[in-house]
Amino acid sequence: TRVLLSGGSGFIAAHVLDCLLKRGHSVVVTLRSQAKVDKIKSAYPNIPVSQLDFAIVEDIAQEGAFDEALKSSVPFEAVIHTASPFHWNARDVKKDLLDPAINGTIGILKATKKNAPMVITSSFAAMINSSDQHAPGYTYSEKDWNPVTMEIATTSPQIGYFASKTFAEKAAWKFCEDEKPNFSVAVINPVIVFGPITHSITSLDAINTSNTIIRNLIQGKITEKLPPSGTFIWVDVRDVALAHVKAMEVPEAGGKRFFLAAGYFSNKKILEVIRKAYPELEEKLPSKNSEDDFPSQIFAIDHSRSEQILGIEYRSFDAAIIDTVKSLQEIGA
Ligand code: NDP
Repeated sequence: TRVLLSGGSGFIAAHVLDCLLKRGHSVVVTLRSQAKVDKIKSAYPNIPVSQLDFAIVEDIAQEGAFDEALKSSVPFEAVIHTASPFHWNARDVKKDLLDPAINGTIGILKATKKNAPMVITSSFAAMINSSDQHAPGYTYSEKDWNPVTMEIATTSPQIGYFASKTFAEKAAWKFCEDEKPNFSVAVINPVIVFGPITHSITSLDAINTSNTIIRNLIQGKITEKLPPSGTFIWVDVRDVALAHVKAMEVPEAGGKRFFLAAGYFSNKKILEVIRKAYPELEEKLPSKNSEDDFPSQIFAIDHSRSEQILGIEYRSFDAAIIDTVKSLQEIGA
């Protein structure tokens, strides 16, 4: 299948690209600059242009950003849209987060004219009710929507990110309802993603947001209290990548969201896995007595749809953390 993959420089997209190529698809990757094109090209020296090619899309927030990329002489048979800002440093929530997330999603949907199934990366951020963080007795599944409103979206960079994913995904489903496009849309909603970094970054300073805690631990940047663990559920990037590709390959995935969650974690549990697997890092790590913020009671997760329709077999937490540390050490951590 000939696939357009947006945001190919990203942490997750790097694994989606790998997975697509391994499964024999041919891919056109959108990136923001020629320098990023050169970097990814050099990671795949033996893959011919017919299987891996590139298109520059500088800013997905701009109207018509994807029009050129999608006007290919050989039509695309599928589109995977992963590009969206994920960081906690927004200065202007609308400009830095909401506009690229929402306009990017609508822009790529509008630009896709052919019957090419689309897979969009949303997030658990679009599902969680942050005002009831631990929600004991509750079961999260694809039925859930984050109740965030536009009024509170701009009150902090964190809420802004959660809102950007919620509004972008809502806009995608509304587009499908209103426009009745001649292609299907599937949405992937991963929880916090850990896993090895590939060609996606050039320096440890540019680590993707979700792996930051692991880099900080192994670089001795956390000496006292562990930072809050966030939502306490995680998933391996390799499972997330496979889910995107399967959602594109399996017709039954069309029209559905997929909640991707492997299980529970806390930053203390990350610390314990690293301590055991990498004893040579001991002096950089915070104390064995660091507090574990994992709550005594927490919501349940129902990820059965991802197993049944996409065939995901979730990887173990220890493997994810160990492989992430290994990949960070390979680039100099
Ligand atoms: P990265 O920051 O590694 O990747 C984000 C990608 O989006 C990069 O390729 C980036 O390009 C691109 N991008 C951001 N803003 C723009 C813009 N204005 N114009 C063009 N491209 C842009 O993050 P992840 O790989 O972690 O995230 C990928 C997707 O997965 C996002 O949609 C994110 O919301 C979602 N997600 C991530 C989770 C996680 O824990 N990692 C959990 C749940 C969902 P560049 O590198 O050039 O800036």
